[in-house]
Amino acid sequence: MRLADQNARHADGAHQGRLASMALAPGLFLVCLAGILSQPYLGLSTFWPANAFMLGMLVRFPGANRLSVWLNCALAFFLADLLMGTSLVRNLTLNGGNLATVATACYLLRPLSQYDRILKGRKSTIHVLRAILVASLVAGMFGIFANPLLFGGSSKEGFLFWTATEMVNYVTFLPVLLTLPRATAWKVVAARQWIARSNPRNLLPLLALIGSIAGAVLVGGRPGAALFPIPALLWCALAYDLFLTACVSLGFALWTLFALRTGLMWSPTELAARSDVISVRLGVSLVALTPIAVGSVVAARNDLLQRYRLLADYDPLTNLRNRRAFLDAGGAALDRSLDAGQSAAVMMLDLDHFKSINDQYGHRAGDEVLAAFASTLKNLVRAQDVVGRLGGEEFAVVLPDCTLVDAGAIAERINSALRSGPVGLEDGRSIQTTVSIGVHVERSEPNLENALGLADAALYHAKHNGRNRFEISSKASLASAAA
Ligand code: GH3
Ligand code: MG
Ligand code: MG
Repeated sequence: MRLADQNARHADGAHQGRLASMALAPGLFLVCLAGILSQPYLGLSTFWPANAFMLGMLVRFPGANRLSVWLNCALAFFLADLLMGTSLVRNLTLNGGNLATVATACYLLRPLSQYDRILKGRKSTIHVLRAILVASLVAGMFGIFANPLLFGGSSKEGFLFWTATEMVNYVTFLPVLLTLPRATAWKVVAARQWIARSNPRNLLPLLALIGSIAGAVLVGGRPGAALFPIPALLWCALAYDLFLTACVSLGFALWTLFALRTGLMWSPTELAARSDVISVRLGVSLVALTPIAVGSVVAARNDLLQRYRLLADYDPLTNLRNRRAFLDAGGAALDRSLDAGQSAAVMMLDLDHFKSINDQYGHRAGDEVLAAFASTLKNLVRAQDVVGRLGGEEFAVVLPDCTLVDAGAIAERINSALRSGPVGLEDGRSIQTTVSIGVHVERSEPNLENALGLADAALYHAKHNGRNRFEISSKASLASAAA
């Protein structure tokens, strides 16, 4: 990554950290209200995404992990309960527990790399699960005291119930928050979703999930029904990106917990004991984690493949395609253009007297000139043109849908750009370079190697005729005269 990109990323990260610091406490307040308001419908503490929300934000935006933000969050927890009329003892106990579990998970997730934080590492799900487990046990510790104190229950039940509930909430909500694309990536997500909608086959995994959930409800009353959707969940993990997978898993978990509460899938006599309810809740949330673990591995593998593909296809000095990748992509572009009945231009470019630049300024300076020339070249051709570094100081471009006149204008633009000013080096020196260009325009023969040969012959003439210029291949000129 270039230094300028790195600086821009840091600035972007700091900016987002500031935004997250400001939005966290008000957002938390609203999420707490949603949790408290839903309790009569979903059961006490069953739906409590506030802790996962706070943790997710702090993990995604480490810049927001500051004392002032924590104090504001404590206030948000407290005010939400105050507004809802919770007693002071209950307010302080419950929210003390909330802050303690978030602090524990936050501390345990601190060493994770930025990559693991968005669940894209091979083992990131396991790391996150470990932190969630410990944080849930901390919640269970609070349950030991809080259950007898606030609800008149036993300490053992308090421990089990608080641990399980905390775990369910973290496991279901946290992956969605961790994989939520950053604001700048929303456009890509929107585009992907649009593509998913426009190709009905992409909806199949989701339909399979809905079908298996419906099957589970129809079978109803059997303990194994909650596991029916596992294959469809795994299919979703293989077909969708990590964020969509996390959303699908969340949907599955919420639906199943709702079905548990309303008796849709299990008859009330089947799950009479509270320990049965806890067991099903835990089981369902752990099942929901499975597609996320699979999705993480798939995402890590895809990223790795992408990185290897970049390494295999692109020249690291100039960031242009290497010879093999250029021949593949350029050949395909030439074929498409000719198939569509359009002429295509092929250019060969060779920097002039490059050996003497190396001799005079050193190899390193020569490298800088090559990189600068590559970026100038990329900027001067059109977005659809395919540019490659064939080797040394030799470059080539395939320009689809390009006439002889257009190709001549682009070649002249490249020559003029180099003539117009020297390349500045990192050490402050500057080097004036020029380039010779051979241009061939092809109308009928879809053979890139041949076209490159003709462009190379034109390049030879450009060198012979004094360099710092372009020449058109004689075949292209004749064809144009005949047309
Ligand atoms: P002409 O105008 O006829 O093209 O002369 P030239 O000196 O450019 O041509 P020649 O083919 O004799 O020299 C090319 C030089 O490019 C020789 C080689 O050392 C240098 N070169 C090739 N690859 C690299 C590279 O990756 N970095 C640097 N710095 N130099 C390179
Ligand atoms: Mg050369
Ligand atoms: Mg040269």
